[in-house]
Amino acid sequence: MDANEARRFLSALKGMGIESYFVVKKDEITLPMLQKQVKACTRCPLARTRRTVVFGEGNEKAELVFVGEAPGEEEDLQGRPFVGRAGKLLDQMIQRMRLSRKDVFICNVLKCRPPQNRDPDASEIDMCKNYLFAQLEIIEPKVICALEGTRITRSWGGRAYHQDPRSDHGIQRDCVASHVSPVILAP
Ligand code: SF4
Repeated sequence: MDANEARRFLSALKGMGIESYFVVKKDEITLPMLQKQVKACTRCPLARTRRTVVFGEGNEKAELVFVGEAPGEEEDLQGRPFVGRAGKLLDQMIQRMRLSRKDVFICNVLKCRPPQNRDPDASEIDMCKNYLFAQLEIIEPKVICALEGTRITRSWGGRAYHQDPRSDHGIQRDCVASHVSPVILAP
């Protein structure tokens, strides 16, 4: 990337509301290293109310990554993303693609549960989102599927596919086809 391309890229990031970032060299960080860092995170007040940190799980080389907004109660208990009712629906969706959880990666924007499953607030998203960006940079998926109408992933743009607009069971199928930039976004 030359200087002009870098300037354009940074300007595009600002347009998406991303004000802070630093570059991580991919060969200097792995998913387990990042997980260790996230599990110890106390950057936002959710660290005081969470039971576990829900980093995400799946294939480190997944071509498809599902991103939800935040862990719920069951996820907070088990430390795993999309378990319980919403998880069953996601599993069905994955199976219909003739894939399994081992083929994809599943995570959330926030790694800790907001109390009473309230919506994450903007400052929490801001403090946590770079962990997601770092995950995506390491995994380098071809497609990111934003679940639950995830605000941050919608803001990346791309095409949205509403597979079942009548669905009322918690998984809103906003699928964002997006190529992840080779520049890393990390805390
Ligand atoms: S939600 Fe994110 S930023 Fe807040 S404590 Fe958990 S890992 Fe850290």
